[in-house]
Amino acid sequence: MSSKGDNVAVCNMKLERLLSMKGGKGQDSYANNSQAQAMHARSMLHLLEETLDNVHLNSSTNPSPFTAVDLGCSSGANTIHIIDFIVKHISKRFDSVGIDPPEFTAFFSDLPSNDFNTLFQLLPPLVSNSCMEECLAADGNRSYFVAGVPGSFYRRLFPARTIDIFHSAFSLHWLSQVPESVTDRRSAAYNRGRVFIHGAGEKMATAYKRQFQADLAEFLRARAAEVKRGGAMFLVCLGRTSVDPTDQGGAGLLFGTHFQDAWDDLVSEGLVAAEKRDGFNIPVFAPSLQDFKEVVEADGSFTIEKLVVYKGGSPLVVSEPDDASEVGRAFASSCRSVAGVLVEAHIGEELSNELFSRVERRATIHAKDVLVNLQFFHIVASLSFT
Ligand code: SAH
Repeated sequence: MSSKGDNVAVCNMKLERLLSMKGGKGQDSYANNSQAQAMHARSMLHLLEETLDNVHLNSSTNPSPFTAVDLGCSSGANTIHIIDFIVKHISKRFDSVGIDPPEFTAFFSDLPSNDFNTLFQLLPPLVSNSCMEECLAADGNRSYFVAGVPGSFYRRLFPARTIDIFHSAFSLHWLSQVPESVTDRRSAAYNRGRVFIHGAGEKMATAYKRQFQADLAEFLRARAAEVKRGGAMFLVCLGRTSVDPTDQGGAGLLFGTHFQDAWDDLVSEGLVAAEKRDGFNIPVFAPSLQDFKEVVEADGSFTIEKLVVYKGGSPLVVSEPDDASEVGRAFASSCRSVAGVLVEAHIGEELSNELFSRVERRATIHAKDVLVNLQFFHIVASLSFT
């Protein structure tokens, strides 16, 4: 991959060929910066359990495998813990009704640039069916078959009626693309001076909201074809509590404050042209409950079992909250682990280093504020298909 990036404009390139969280296991990798997501996911396990309790269990004597999918799995250990939890919970349900559990298949799915290699290396060894019960009881083993599935979840990924449960965490707020009007200088929705929707104009916010809703509609259409009757979906994405889409809550603070100011630093220092900055936009939208609900209801294929806004907490994990430089570092790493790949594609690796060192400096100065106010809310949706 080119490290110069000068000729690469994120807006002109198909986002889905490019987007990924930072791979590998280094300081800024997603694998190394997703402990907060793990904690948020753990705090929602009781909601996932409710969804799993609704999934129909196939009781035929020769059942097909029970199939679970994690969409937007990324490359850390979080997805493995979730799949493990799903398999164990469903197995217990089979046991409790006196039916031998079937075999399990898990599909880890993400965009093609995702670091599937790091994910596959983290997988525990498979234990054969003959000792499945001991295996389910023991940690550090895997009692399900796996495969990686590259592709956008805004399109079909699986054959019709083959999936029992879809899980997706912290992924659906990623849009399929930056809306064209937002990068078109002649458009009223052009995002001049800003790199995110937070604090932007109303027209730009409307363009983002429309894109989010169109994307979610495509997502639901694809899943409705793939899920088995009696199957379910558990979806978690960044959400906001404000009705105003230009107030993006935690996502707004992550991408709309120190990250934004660091871009402005590069422009005022003459390192990046203003237009170059204006051409960069984070393709994320944190919907309100209403934004989300409208799409699910309009699609009509799924029944809403639960749809809530859930407080996730801070995306930062710091051991010394009073150490401003640790907070600043954690903020910059967290930001880089999710947006670094896009930034590098837009301005190259060197300028990206410059940018994130300014993000770190600014977040260090505002460490107290960052710790208190950077809080994520999530939309949690439990949907069933009959
Ligand atoms: N679920 C993981 C990772 C979340 S990071 C966890 O809980 O920690 C968000 C992931 O969504 C990234 O890996 C990103 O590549 C993926 N993603 C974003 N847009 C996507 C799309 N259109 N199709 C599939 N995956 C997508």
